[in-house]
Amino acid sequence: MWSVVVHGGAGVWSESEKFSAVKDTILKSLEAGASVLRAGGSALDAVVESVMVLEDSGVLNAGVGSYPNLLGEIEMDAGVMDGKSLRAGAVGCIRNVKNPVLAAKLVLEKTDHVLLVGEWASRFALSMGLPALNSDRSKGLLKYRDLVRRFEEGDTRYKSNLALYKQYPHLFHETVGAVALDIEGNLASATSTGGLALKLPGRVGDSPLIGAGTYADSNIAVSATGIGEYIMLLGVGVRASQYAENGLPANTVAEKIIALLTSRFGINSGGLIALDKNGVIGISFNTPGMARGYYSSEMSEPYAMVP
Ligand code: ASP
Repeated sequence: MWSVVVHGGAGVWSESEKFSAVKDTILKSLEAGASVLRAGGSALDAVVESVMVLEDSGVLNAGVGSYPNLLGEIEMDAGVMDGKSLRAGAVGCIRNVKNPVLAAKLVLEKTDHVLLVGEWASRFALSMGLPALNSDRSKGLLKYRDLVRRFEEGDTRYKSNLALYKQYPHLFHETVGAVALDIEGNLASATSTGGLALKLPGRVGDSPLIGAGTYADSNIAVSATGIGEYIMLLGVGVRASQYAENGLPANTVAEKIIALLTSRFGINSGGLIALDKNGVIGISFNTPGMARGYYSSEMSEPYAMVP
């Protein structure tokens, strides 16, 4: 049996005009992962293919769609983990690379490290031949700082967005992630993000931190989304692995993790996708929405839900 589960971020999901584009993207991402798995490919390759589709979509907060930091610059994070070998690769605060998930995979495959950050992560990825993020985008970002200032002062035609932003300052996030089980019974996880909107330059979130936002072993694979600081503080990935080691199925693991997140940090703090070695799927979130979907060898077509 094979299976793949993806998310497009837990959050407010206020722009309904985006829903159908996001749903199409989730379906394409599931198909990309499924075609690897159907052909007997590895769970690791499948999650990377799925996440690349999400990064390239431009409608989610990862890759080309990444939110800028407070200075209007794009700094992205990504992590991948192979449950079979317990090897992982990740990049933090990477700039100018189109697919951070591929950079993370290269860290896993080509280095003796788990996490590369900042300028040298970008240099590493570009010198390994990864394509750059389209530089045209930076022109549009020049005005960003001024726009943020005007937005916060209330000088905006987006009155509802402003109210939402003031009510949920952290919740403008639509990180992406995937977990997969291949026909050999191996699990893998990948997560990629532009991080929280208006984050401080240099901030690294939970997604590239193995054991926090991304984790996979021989029992379970998880990818988290939400306020990265909280996900780190609870060590979500490692905790999920411990629950699974104690025999809990992925659906119970996801529910327990989100219940814990809610009890410690309140609602609107995050979401989790999980997949265990028996193919049980877990999806849970405490935000108004989370784009999500799954596809397995037992299903005739992929399933996606937004928000
Ligand atoms: N967890 C991500 C971060 O804190 C944000 C998100 O999930 O949208 O960087």
